[in-house]
Amino acid sequence: MSSISRNLQAVQEQITTAAQRASRPVHEIRLLAVSKTFGPDAVIEAAQAGQAAFGENYVQEAIDKMAAVKALRPELVLEWHFIGPIQSNKTRLVASHFEWVHSVDRLKIAQRLSEQRDPALPPLQICLQVNISGEASKSGVAPAELLELAAQVARLPRLRLRGLMAIPEASGDDAQQRLPFRQLRSLLTELNAAGMNLDTLSMGMSADLEAAVAEGATMVRIGTAIFGKRDYKESDSA
Ligand SMILES: *Cc1c(COP(=O)(O)O)cnc(C)c1O
Repeated sequence: MSSISRNLQAVQEQITTAAQRASRPVHEIRLLAVSKTFGPDAVIEAAQAGQAAFGENYVQEAIDKMAAVKALRPELVLEWHFIGPIQSNKTRLVASHFEWVHSVDRLKIAQRLSEQRDPALPPLQICLQVNISGEASKSGVAPAELLELAAQVARLPRLRLRGLMAIPEASGDDAQQRLPFRQLRSLLTELNAAGMNLDTLSMGMSADLEAAVAEGATMVRIGTAIFGKRDYKESDSA
């Protein structure tokens, strides 16, 4: 068994254990394999071990990788999720190559994705990225502005608003680590109470998967624990 398939199995077991501890059905939690900086061979290995959904942060890297995977293994049916910061000059590529976008944090980007999504394709599945307390990155809509943005995005054609995403700062303390995830879940509850029909909480990475599952994650985005440590290069950019 390759190390990627062994790692995938270990992550699945971690998700199962975390779900059991939280008394949640394990099928509620989808695993997104974050393959940024890893090549097409790593994606193919994971796909052959049964993984279908992949997350990418850099548009051009992702598109090259999709083409390489398709050329090598045309029979694989994969689902691609864009999870990185989006520049407005890259929205057309994102709208045409991905099934999901987790990192929408302003209306202008959502409008462009909506205009540029081919009507022949299924709607682009959208999560709004929220800048909850202790956010590691500067991206994300402020919680106070979330309801208005969500209402506007929900009205756009060719998009389907599914839920929320966040990237909280890592904390050594388990109870502390759960707080931002709990906050994201309660924001989702508020939006649903306002009449939206959102089912997705994209939260949890390699280091905080268990805390995220305990607080209701429905999609965990795991890179390092599946593919190993990333080797960032200066040339990596959106
Ligand atoms: C890189 C990345 C991940 C994966 O992080 P790991 O710690 O390697 O599991 C998840 N989400 C986002 C938005 C990322 O940029």
